[in-house]
Amino acid sequence: MAERYDFDLIVIGAGSGGVRLARMSAQRGARVAVVESRYLGGTCVNVGCVPKKLFVYGAHVSDDLEDAAGYGWHIPHDQVSFDWPTLVANKNAEIERLNGIYGRLLENAGVTIINGTAALHDANTVVVGDRSYTAGHITVATGSWPVVPDIPGKESILTSNEMFYLPQLPREAVIWGGGYIAVEFAGILAGLGVDTTLIYRGERFLRGFDDDIRTFLADEMTKKGIKLKFGVTIESVSSDNSHYSLALSDGSVMTTGLVMAATGRRALVDGLGLEQLGVELNQSGHVVVDEHFQTAVPSVTALGDVIGTPQLTPVALAQAMVLSRRLFGDGKGEMDYSFIPTAVFCQPNIGTVGLTEAEAREAGHSLRIFRSEFRPMKYTLSGRDERCLMKLVVDADTDRVIGAHMVGPDAGEITQGLAVAMKAGATKADFDSTLGIHPTSAEEFVTMREPVA
Ligand SMILES: Cc1cc2nc3c(=O)[nH]c(=O)nc-3n(C[C@H](O)[C@H](O)[C@H](O)COP(=O)(O)OP(=O)(O)OC[C@H]3O[C@@H](n4cnc5c(N)ncnc54)[C@H](O)[C@@H]3O)c2cc1C
Repeated sequence: MAERYDFDLIVIGAGSGGVRLARMSAQRGARVAVVESRYLGGTCVNVGCVPKKLFVYGAHVSDDLEDAAGYGWHIPHDQVSFDWPTLVANKNAEIERLNGIYGRLLENAGVTIINGTAALHDANTVVVGDRSYTAGHITVATGSWPVVPDIPGKESILTSNEMFYLPQLPREAVIWGGGYIAVEFAGILAGLGVDTTLIYRGERFLRGFDDDIRTFLADEMTKKGIKLKFGVTIESVSSDNSHYSLALSDGSVMTTGLVMAATGRRALVDGLGLEQLGVELNQSGHVVVDEHFQTAVPSVTALGDVIGTPQLTPVALAQAMVLSRRLFGDGKGEMDYSFIPTAVFCQPNIGTVGLTEAEAREAGHSLRIFRSEFRPMKYTLSGRDERCLMKLVVDADTDRVIGAHMVGPDAGEITQGLAVAMKAGATKADFDSTLGIHPTSAEEFVTMREPVA
């Protein structure tokens, strides 16, 4: 790369994708800078995956304490208390530690970190405050931002961003939305003792997940005391101190102590000047790229949440590796979006990989469906009324397992291994010939013999 530019690559956004791209490219010998306006590590580390999972662990302790009695532990109820500020402070300390690690990873790789908000001045120039920096390549990795529907009183509605820093927990809360962030936060709040209602306009939440999983999870969440209001939405919110009054689309009014919207996220492109430069945005506001993350402007690439591919950290990481190799490696490599495994850290967890039954039918596969439902062993002594669901979607012609879905403890942990097998083309016969690990819930995935459909 000619030295006529300050850098070979400037990455805008030090989130999951941006950090990985900057590091990998610097390790390949490129001169790299990354510009970050808020926090090193981006959404995932600061207001996403990591703090969310820490809160999920915290919320699950209430179940563990209840389950302890069946195992002979005597934990007097009046001696158990929970302190929300402690959880938030400990979470904050952990996030700060991770911010430091991200900074050191970048510095050790030789990446220049520029603090500030970036905009594109021209195809090779990024402006941060009153400084300009030039680069042969510029990558937009600015992520996404929560959207709150435009209703009266929307300014009093919180998003996941603020939930991570709430000064105190309310007694009651409403979660508005039906995606994975909504069900995860409903589980967190309910587990921490908040009387929680989830409101979603669709007939059932988690659109895009297998229908059996959606129905099963709704039952399990209801058993945990979470009130699910489907087929209704919030039309307006009025607030008085910390009391909120919600007018719902069915004509009813409900009051609560907090409203959180998890009603979608938009590409974060504010103030970047992309369109003036000729970088195209699609109807949903995402940056349009080709399969090599190339925008309409040759020197500008984009990846991660901002391009509208599945909004998951491992997707942004994988895209970054592909792009780094294309820009500064041997120029090869493609992104493979098949069999992306994912977990939802609701309670109980969901793990899923491959096609849902409905997707597989729509794609024309003839199917054999295997399903198993049982009470996890842990709950036999504790008496907890929580069940586990496992489901395999098998192509009847090839015997390949093309979908695996689960609701139950450690679903994410279990699904990761299944994803490897499925990506490698495992058939149902391979599952059947694999010995179980006994006694686990996971062994059920290799012992489902009779199809249910
Ligand atoms: C509540 C929640 C829970 C989630 N849980 C999971 C999970 O369990 N598993 C999972 O895989 N994914 C999860 N995600 C999704 C995951 O966080 C994102 O998919 C991932 O962070 C996307 O990475 P990215 O690099 O595209 O963007 P980001 O990580 O969002 O990083 C973008 C960065 O760009 C910076 N930036 C933006 N504009 C500018 C600018 N003009 N100048 C300089 N810097 C700028 C931002 O400050 C940010 O740091 C969750 C998300 C949320 C909100």
